[in-house]
Amino acid sequence: MLRSKSNAFHFAQFRKDFPMLQKSMHGKPLIYFDSAATTQKPQSVINTITDFYENHYSTVHRAIYELAAYATEHYESTRHKVKDFIHAAKVEEIIFTRGTTDAINLVAYSFGKAFIKPEDEIIIAEMEHHSNIIPWQMLCEDRGAKLRIIPINDNAEIELEEYAKLLNKNTKLVAISHVSNSTGTLNPVKQMVEMAHNFGAKVLVDGAQSAPHMTINVQDLDADFFAFSGHKLYGPTGIGILYGKEELLNQMPPVQGGGDMVNVVTFLKTTYSDLPLKFEAGTPMIAEVIGLGAAIDYVQAIGLDPISHWEQELLVHATKLIETVKGVRIIGTAKEKGAILSFVAEGVHPLDMGTMLDLRGIAVRTGHHCAQPTMCRFGLSGTCRASFAFYNTKEEIGIFIGALEEVLDTLR
Ligand code: PLP
Repeated sequence: MLRSKSNAFHFAQFRKDFPMLQKSMHGKPLIYFDSAATTQKPQSVINTITDFYENHYSTVHRAIYELAAYATEHYESTRHKVKDFIHAAKVEEIIFTRGTTDAINLVAYSFGKAFIKPEDEIIIAEMEHHSNIIPWQMLCEDRGAKLRIIPINDNAEIELEEYAKLLNKNTKLVAISHVSNSTGTLNPVKQMVEMAHNFGAKVLVDGAQSAPHMTINVQDLDADFFAFSGHKLYGPTGIGILYGKEELLNQMPPVQGGGDMVNVVTFLKTTYSDLPLKFEAGTPMIAEVIGLGAAIDYVQAIGLDPISHWEQELLVHATKLIETVKGVRIIGTAKEKGAILSFVAEGVHPLDMGTMLDLRGIAVRTGHHCAQPTMCRFGLSGTCRASFAFYNTKEEIGIFIGALEEVLDTLR
């Protein structure tokens, strides 16, 4: 209890770093429970981006003047920060993309072109975000390959025995979310990677919902690819990361042609840059990358392990309270979860719940959460989803539960 109180006190102090958390909504203090969609930004990230545009702005890589040297140094230093953040072996394995979606599409296109043939198989799970479904569907259609789906159980957990049955010598890739954005399930990805590797298949881990909330070690997971978004990690929009093992990325063709990704260009033949620039055509997202660097500094200073402990405490607290609310059913009751609480209420549409909670200053997400097959698995069109970050408090959860009870009384 003492530890819990001091945890609460420790984490509450970070709220002042977030200008958006000081705002009101409909005359009530904003309670922001949509961090799975995108997180709020600390002042240090906002300042870093503003400072770059106001005082240091220029391009990167090709120019020799002082300003460009500054921009290049800060831009490339983020790559080192990302490498350390996810415990990658080499900085060349870190590719800047526009986000998780962009990173997954890059792999689908490039790995697909290099390695996927007719009759090959790609495995995903029933719980995937659309970003980790559609690129594989498109690839399978294009190459005549097969998409196989791992079913989930009533708790929204992967059926590992079914996964084992799906793996075979034709399996070329498994693409699996680390944490589900719609149910919160934390998947046993390390075990799943090992199982896939036994069949020579590669594994992409969609880390959009894990990288901001827990320590990531891509080498320990032995993931071949790992993707995540800066905007869910307290950083700016428009920047994401694809990690890939160097030997694999070296065998994959570039996806886009243009400036920065080439060595020598002639009309007869063009040679490409080495990693990582081979996959980064055109003037990159310079301010966004530098902003992501500031976001990583910010979360590293707090520590990912303390963050995940506190978020788990918030999840347990919210789960206990919501279980006492009449007619509410949690969707996603896996043993291991990220801090995501999806629920439905008997006789009430999630959209109505979300709208009325908004009027009380509480921002929750409603709908299918870009995971229509998951909703379909539970016979639903959507849920209401409260997702937490380290800047949330138990007081906010208490207010939310009180408001939910009121809203349900009104709507029923
Ligand atoms: N995968 C998961 C599990 C997600 O939760 C999301 C976003 O919600 C994505 C992929 C797509 O991320 P982005 O829209 O930042 O590309």
